[in-house]
Amino acid sequence: MKRDTHLVVLLLLVIGSSLASLTVWKVLASRDRALEEVNIHGLNLAQALATYSEGIVRQSSLLLLGLVERLETEGSGPAQIQRLSALVSRQEPLMPQLSGITIYDNQGHWLMSSNRPIPAGANSTDRAYFIHHRDDPSREIFIGPPIMSRSNQEWVITISRRFNDPRGEFAGVVSVTLGVENFLRLFGKIDVGQEGAIGLSHTDGTLLVRYPFREQDMGRNFSKSPIYAKYLVDRSVGTASFTSSLDGVERLYAFRKSDRLPLITTVALGKREALAAWRTEALLSAVVVTGLLGLTGLIGWFLILDIRRRTKAEDQLRGAQQQLLSSNRQLELLAMKDALTGLANRRCFDESLAMEARRAQREGTTLALMMIDIDYFKRFNDSLGHVAGDACLQTVGRIFEACVRRPSDLVARYGGEEMGVIMPDTDSDGAAVVAQLILDRLKQENIAHNTSPFGRLSVSIGIATATGSQLDHLQGLIEMADQALYNAKAFGRNQFVSGGL
Ligand code: GH3
Ligand code: MG
Ligand code: MG
Repeated sequence: MKRDTHLVVLLLLVIGSSLASLTVWKVLASRDRALEEVNIHGLNLAQALATYSEGIVRQSSLLLLGLVERLETEGSGPAQIQRLSALVSRQEPLMPQLSGITIYDNQGHWLMSSNRPIPAGANSTDRAYFIHHRDDPSREIFIGPPIMSRSNQEWVITISRRFNDPRGEFAGVVSVTLGVENFLRLFGKIDVGQEGAIGLSHTDGTLLVRYPFREQDMGRNFSKSPIYAKYLVDRSVGTASFTSSLDGVERLYAFRKSDRLPLITTVALGKREALAAWRTEALLSAVVVTGLLGLTGLIGWFLILDIRRRTKAEDQLRGAQQQLLSSNRQLELLAMKDALTGLANRRCFDESLAMEARRAQREGTTLALMMIDIDYFKRFNDSLGHVAGDACLQTVGRIFEACVRRPSDLVARYGGEEMGVIMPDTDSDGAAVVAQLILDRLKQENIAHNTSPFGRLSVSIGIATATGSQLDHLQGLIEMADQALYNAKAFGRNQFVSGGL
């Protein structure tokens, strides 16, 4: 029964743990899937935005190439600048992202500005692009850090090229300014959630544009951030997940480095936000599974209670059965015993005699039967009272039992003050020895019996023995023992007489 309870518990544990682990596995798998979808989405977005930004930079670069070509072949005199200005004003509407084109001479003085009159004494020697081109002979474009435009107080990115004089010396810089606003307008149309961000940076880590716009981040260098320090070292496209050092928000980043331009596009989505749908689903799964587990546990608990109840009932039943059996045995024993003397009773005597007779026949042995009757017992009762008579019967019973020592021998109360002794495998001589022993012992005991001629209690004994077919009629054997007893009485009592068939 304990095993049944253990089995139920084991079954519950197996069901519970498999359900729980299956759910955990499913939830984790769907989380991975959700993150992967976010990454793919981010990569696609980064690709599209990178293409857009690169397009603008490349267009600007082409425009600059044309202007540099002209400045170098035609020079930068007032007439030439005039012509260039006219050309630029025709080209500008074709590029709406462009907020202005400026030409500087080798001293940083403004030679031309497409979108406003040249301020008096304007000088840009302090600007990064001017310093770069002045000190670097490379003819490649330079993408400068975002700056606050001096002309209209807007954040702009500059893309510039250097132009040389006929001797190949530094002659000045042509720069295109792109309004950050234009980028933000496009980036703003993309849904990156509350915690998402889109960024365009220089490969040296300088942030050029960030959506949502944050003034304090403009031009900041992020080369120490994990994307630059760790991921972009050996890859140009990829995804990463880390906590932003700026605002402490954990984000999923998708980044892409341009093939030819020193630009990096980053799309970041808040991890918590990206996993919101997954979290709801996981929570729902957890609630359902917890409910199921609880229900299973409850059913199991009831099952265990039921088993326990049944076990208890069975135990009680078994106990009652045991009690009944032992009572029965007790009853059986009682049924075989004489209440007064504790000797075997008449019924037991009859059964034992029949059984021993069969055994003696089977084994070819002699069965001896002894009938003992107390002498003058009526007188004993009359003079000493019935109670003393009863006590005397008990004493005599004990004495007989003490004289008969073989385990197979049986002393029984045959009736009244008459006892029968069955002695298997005992011949007439053996029985005589026991009879004599009884007479001697009684003599020793010397139980007072004043109304007996002997002055003490005595018995008369009749012995009968039988073998083989003589045992077919047990009544004969009993009658013979009775006859011998009768003879012993007749011969004067306090003696034994052996009879024979
Ligand atoms: P005898 O020597 O001829 O045997 O004389 P007796 O007086 O013993 O005669 P008998 O055997 O006929 O008497 C039996 C008496 O034993 C009768 C009764 O008073 C007494 N007796 C029988 N059963 C009991 C018993 O259970 N208790 C007591 N106290 N006396 C019993
Ligand atoms: Mg008698
Ligand atoms: Mg008697």
